[in-house]
Amino acid sequence: MALFNRIILKIGPAVNPRGIASLSALSETHQMLYKTCRDFAENELKPVAAKIDREHSYPAEQIKKMGELGLMAVAVPEKYGGTGLDYVAYAIAMEEISRGCASTGVIMSVNNSLYLGPIQQFGSEEQKEKYITPFTAGDKVGCFALSEPGNGSDAGAASTTAKDDGDCWTLNGTKAWITNGFESEAAVVLATTDKNQKHKGISALIVPKPIKGLELGKKEDKLGIRGSSTCSLIYEDCKVPKANLLGEPGLGFKIAMMTLDAGRIGIAAQALGIAQASLEVAAEYASKRMAFGKPLLKLQTIQNKLADMALQLDAARLLTWRAAWLKDNKKSYTKEAAMAKLAASEAATFLSHQCIQILGGMGYVSDMPAERHYRDARITEIYEGTSEIQRLVIAGNLIKELGL
Ligand SMILES: Cc1cc2nc3c(=O)[nH]c(=O)nc-3n(C[C@H](O)[C@H](O)[C@H](O)COP(=O)(O)OP(=O)(O)OC[C@H]3O[C@@H](n4cnc5c(N)ncnc54)[C@H](O)[C@@H]3O)c2cc1C
Repeated sequence: MALFNRIILKIGPAVNPRGIASLSALSETHQMLYKTCRDFAENELKPVAAKIDREHSYPAEQIKKMGELGLMAVAVPEKYGGTGLDYVAYAIAMEEISRGCASTGVIMSVNNSLYLGPIQQFGSEEQKEKYITPFTAGDKVGCFALSEPGNGSDAGAASTTAKDDGDCWTLNGTKAWITNGFESEAAVVLATTDKNQKHKGISALIVPKPIKGLELGKKEDKLGIRGSSTCSLIYEDCKVPKANLLGEPGLGFKIAMMTLDAGRIGIAAQALGIAQASLEVAAEYASKRMAFGKPLLKLQTIQNKLADMALQLDAARLLTWRAAWLKDNKKSYTKEAAMAKLAASEAATFLSHQCIQILGGMGYVSDMPAERHYRDARITEIYEGTSEIQRLVIAGNLIKELGL
C-alpha cells in the first residue's frame, strides 16, 4: 500500500472516469487505482497502440513506466518489491491497461499472474528474492511455459522432461506459444520428472534465460496482441540448478492449474478492457455519424446493439470482480474464474464484432481501432484454457457441487 500511495501522489489527478457505473461500489483505493491506470492508458498507451500492433513492437518503454507505477507486480507483497494490493485491484488495473493496449495487457498479465504468481505462492525465500524482486519494476519480465506443440488443452500430457542428474535437472523438450518468450529473463517451466506418475509426475522449475541449452523458435505472426512476443522455448540438455525446483517434485500440475485459475481472472480483465474500448469507439462514432438525417445514436436498432453490448460487458465485469473477490478472501474460485473468463472473452468477441458493425466500412479499416479490438479479442477465448475447457471446468465443478 505504501508504494501504491506514493504512486498515486506522483501521478496526481486522473481523467474523469466514464461509463463504469459499478465503480462507485469499489473501495477508495480501487477507485484511485482505476483512475491512475485509466490516465496512464489514455496518455501513454492509446496513442501508441496502433503503432505497436502494426510494427509488432514490444512496448518496452511503457512496460518500464508500468513497473515504476507498480503495475508489473500488483498483488506481490511490498517486501519482495511488489505493490501489495489485492486481486480486485489487479483485475481493475488489467482492464484499464488492456483498454489502452491489449498487447501491453497480456505482457502485464503473464508477468503478474503466470510468472510471479506461482513463485509467490510456492517459492522458497531464496527463490522469491532472486526471481520475484528483480521482476517487479518493469526492467525484467518473466514467462510461463506449460503448452507444447503436441498438447495444449491436455496440459497433463507434458512430454518435456527434467531428469534428476544429482546437482541439476537436465531439461529436454519444446514449450510452445510462450508469451514474453523473447523478452523474458526467466520462465516457470512445467516438465515431467516421473513419467510413471503421469500428471502427478510433472514438476515446475524456474529456468533463467538466457541459459546454455535453450534456443528460441520463430516469433509467431499473430492475428492480434501483436506487440507481445510468442515463441517456442526449445530445451536441449539444459542444466537447471537443483535449487530451482518450485515446491515439491510432482507438484507441477497442481501449480499449473492453480496458476491458471488466477491467470484467468487477468485474462477476463484483459477481455473487459477490449470490450470497454469497443463500446466507447462504437458509441462515440454513432454519436457523430449521420444517417437518414440524424446521428446513428438516435436509431433504435443502434441503441439496441449498444444496450446488448453494455449488458454483456457489465455482467462479465461483475463475474470477474466476484472471482477476484473470492480469491482475495481465500474462498474457492476455480469455477468462478472460469465463468469470468468465459463470459468476458465471449463478451469481448461480441462487443468488438458489434463495434465494427456500428462503424460500417470504417470498422473494417485500420484508420479506426475497431478492427484491432476485434483481432485482439479473439485470443482471450483461446489462451489460459479455451472456451470449451472453461465450460468443462464450470460443468465439472457444478456437478460436484450438486453432488451428482
Ligand atoms: C498468442 C498465444 C499466446 C499463448 N501464451 C501461452 C503461454 O504464455 N504459456 C503457455 O503455456 N501457453 C500459451 N499459449 C497456448 C494456449 O494456452 C493454447 O493454445 C490453448 O490452451 C489451446 O491449446 P491448443 O492450441 O493446443 O489447442 P488444442 O488443445 O489442440 O484444442 C483445439 C480445439 O479442441 C478443443 N478441445 C480440446 N480438448 C477438448 C476437450 N476435452 N473438450 C472439448 N473441446 C476440446 C479446444 O477447445 C480447441 O477448440 C498461448 C497461445 C497463443 C495462441
